[in-house]
Amino acid sequence: MLSVEKILKKNNFSKTDLQYLLESKGEERQTIFEKSKATKELFVGHKVYFRGLIEYANFCSKNCYYCGIRAGNKQFTRYQLTDEEVMEAVDYAFSNNYGSLVIQSGERTNKTFVSKIEGLLKKIQFLTKGKLHITLSLGEQREETYRRWFEAGAHRYLLRIEVSNPVLYKKLHPDNIHHNYQQRLLALQTLRQVGYQVGTGVMIGLPFQTISDLADDLLFFRDFDVDMVGMGPYIEHIDTPLYQYRDTLLPLQERFDLSLKMIAILRIMMKDINIAATTAMQTIDPQGREKALMVGANVIMPNLTPVKYRQDYLLYENKPCLDEEASECKNCLEIRIHMAGDQIAYGEWGDSRHFRNRTTKK
Ligand code: SAM
Ligand code: SF4
Repeated sequence: MLSVEKILKKNNFSKTDLQYLLESKGEERQTIFEKSKATKELFVGHKVYFRGLIEYANFCSKNCYYCGIRAGNKQFTRYQLTDEEVMEAVDYAFSNNYGSLVIQSGERTNKTFVSKIEGLLKKIQFLTKGKLHITLSLGEQREETYRRWFEAGAHRYLLRIEVSNPVLYKKLHPDNIHHNYQQRLLALQTLRQVGYQVGTGVMIGLPFQTISDLADDLLFFRDFDVDMVGMGPYIEHIDTPLYQYRDTLLPLQERFDLSLKMIAILRIMMKDINIAATTAMQTIDPQGREKALMVGANVIMPNLTPVKYRQDYLLYENKPCLDEEASECKNCLEIRIHMAGDQIAYGEWGDSRHFRNRTTKK
């Protein structure tokens, strides 16, 4: 029997097991993918949930060393969608039966921004009669802000831990209170206390990151008992401090393959959570999201940001679909999802089963 088969028979993986799985190749790698595919079919089925993605604004007060829209980058134009533009995207998602939306942006904590988001949430709730579920991805905020947004209608929150190793976290962020690992962890705990379905995630293939770090990331997801995970390859951006380490990186194809393995192993470990097939996967491989679906992912975020702003939300290089209208994106996605053997669950919120199971157990 292959060593991988022996590991996959266990109920709980040790860190050594995870490292072995992450390093698998050839037949062993394929065995992992077959197991994760079967696990997905059994526990979450063939449904893929759409989350219409609105990249609301690229203003950001932070300076993460990896991100193209960091405050220190002056090489592009900053924007914020008007209320009308947000509502047009909402209307598109609602009339196309998406069931769910994600509002993402750079991090800002000032009063005007907090109230603006609160107002938009209330408006969306009112206009869609609460039928559209809303996920926020707006970074670290005060507990009061998380509460206000929750009460105004947001249900889920995505906040990637980025890397679960605090030493590595320090190398990827400026050394100040605004970029602090413990604060980020605390924010995740606060979100859960407030009542959100909490999603987190990591980047894969970062400078200085090891297989041991990635195994720890998987253990972090399990120990935090997350409801959703969005993770994908790190992709360099020329106007960021991390770009100087580009020669030390794994080739893009290897980062992509590691990301597929991370998704597959996580599906086997956490059978009923939601896992996103991220845009960064598609950046490296045109079929990247479909490949992610085939090994365990079950969520896709079609971009609904008005095309004129997309060039200015470049977190990394070669981001795809920069010139595609939402409707074109939707048509090509539908075909590709069917080819991957899944169906789009139109009109469903697509809450994480894990969240439901976790909260009804109490
Ligand atoms: N500002 C919020 C935050 O940081 O949580 C939300 C928006 S931020 C742009 C969303 C995610 O983009 C981050 O959590 C990070 O993992 C990802 N990201 C940023 N730069 C990236 C890069 N160069 N490659 C891959 N992902 C990147
Ligand atoms: Fe800002 Fe988020 Fe980019 Fe960090 S990752 S610079 S918080 S947008």
